[in-house]
Amino acid sequence: MRVVEHFVAGASAGGGSRRSDVFDPNSGQVQAQVLLGGQAELQAAVDAAKAAQPAWAATNPQRRARIMFNFKALVEAHMDELAHLLSSEHGKVIADSKGDIQRGLEVVEFACGIPHVLKGEYTQGAGPGIDVFSMRQPIGIGAGITPFNFPAMIPLWMGAVAVACGNAFILKPSERDPSVPVRLTELMKEAGAPDGIFQCVHGDKEMVDAILDHPDIGAVSFVGSSDIAQYVYSRGVAAGKRVQAMGGAKNHGIIMPDADLDQAVNDLIGAAYGSAGERCMALPVVVPVGEDTAERLRAKLLPAIEALRVGVSTDKDAHYGPVVTAAHKAKVESYIQKGVDEGAELVVDGRGFKLQGYEDGFFVGPTLFDRVTTDMTTYKEEIFGPVLQIVRARDFDEAVALPSKHQYGNGVAIFTRNGHAAREFAQRVQVGMVGINVPIPVPVAYHSFGGWKRSAFGDHNQHGMEGIRFWTKVKTVTQRWPDGGSGDSAFIIPTMG
Ligand code: NAD
Repeated sequence: MRVVEHFVAGASAGGGSRRSDVFDPNSGQVQAQVLLGGQAELQAAVDAAKAAQPAWAATNPQRRARIMFNFKALVEAHMDELAHLLSSEHGKVIADSKGDIQRGLEVVEFACGIPHVLKGEYTQGAGPGIDVFSMRQPIGIGAGITPFNFPAMIPLWMGAVAVACGNAFILKPSERDPSVPVRLTELMKEAGAPDGIFQCVHGDKEMVDAILDHPDIGAVSFVGSSDIAQYVYSRGVAAGKRVQAMGGAKNHGIIMPDADLDQAVNDLIGAAYGSAGERCMALPVVVPVGEDTAERLRAKLLPAIEALRVGVSTDKDAHYGPVVTAAHKAKVESYIQKGVDEGAELVVDGRGFKLQGYEDGFFVGPTLFDRVTTDMTTYKEEIFGPVLQIVRARDFDEAVALPSKHQYGNGVAIFTRNGHAAREFAQRVQVGMVGINVPIPVPVAYHSFGGWKRSAFGDHNQHGMEGIRFWTKVKTVTQRWPDGGSGDSAFIIPTMG
């Protein structure tokens, strides 16, 4: 049985008395075991990080950027290998795995411009003979704790920016698909990152708690489900750390009566069912405005769902593959039953889906509910599977209110030809990322990613300038050089007046 090890101080490392199974969701079989570490394994990584980080921070930013350029080239050269590895543990189709890696690489491209974004601010003559400048310095040692659903992109959201800023970064990836994070760590070493600068330790709650309590880790970036995000945020902040913690989502797609329905349905199908719905920016809720829009939408959705092909992740024609584990499949299917029990209309039932030759795979067929209402648990909670729910709204105001009042506020989209309605919607809706005729409005790497409400705890978003702010602290210098005159002692607070 293959064992997925930690990567500490530039080499694979054992450690940890417990292990967790890593499945191939296509076959349902265990394909590897990942080590579950704790305090001792973390301490080894922190020791290596401490030894390496001061020299790394003192390395000029152009040289740090060159390592990012090398890393980008290496990941591109290994794209096929990484995508197959990713699909074999996550279950998403190969093309989607390449997208996962590519979106991470775009953050690496942003990090290649680190000399420019770290330039700081300067005021000449802030007072007589006085200049003021500010600089951004790395935190020191930072950690990233990541979810299973984007095992390449999310580690790179955090790690590329953290390392380019001059930090040492310790990644704690999901134990469900840990192999790609380890390969990325190895490639970062091959690109020239000194040992101890980009490391990977595995584990579950025990390792996460060790990270949150470690006095030498100054910043923790987390992405995962909301209850854990809130826990990580609270415990990390209580230990005096800087923490950003992104949580779950329930993104709505509003369909106005004047929307281009063919385009909207096309977009919705991909956004609701792509990656088996296991995306924090999926669109699992569609809100048609008015009964006529709802009927027209439903009529167009049905054949589009019927045309979906569920297959193994290496099937080039498959639209999506299995969900990540048997436990997750059972959870999604129990939500479908709950939807029925709560009185929603189950229009297409994806339970009991079997793929010939892969009967033990974790597949769930596409599912559609209509007449879902806001009091239902299945509306309030995140299902994270290939389940689309139609919530009918009477008018525009109700459509704005639905995502605004929901506990999650990650992403939202509106489909309309009316610029005024779109503008109003973007202004008023209480959600962090808005798409206008764009179903999955994940911001490009040089902007920043982050939701509102229970979708994010902490105050800085991921990547872009928000990422730079998170991974650095500001130092401001006020300077005056002796000019020969001694002046009088000042006993009042200096002003520049
Ligand atoms: P998860 O919360 O189960 O796990 C995330 C991380 O937390 C993993 O590294 C895991 O090992 C660790 N963890 C799990 N249980 C823990 C515990 N009790 N104490 C401490 N740490 C623990 O999330 P997941 O199932 O891997 O990922 C799916 C979730 O992530 C969904 O809710 C999805 O919406 C969310 N997500 C959010 C974003 C975003 O940017 N907002 C992006 C991707 C995924």
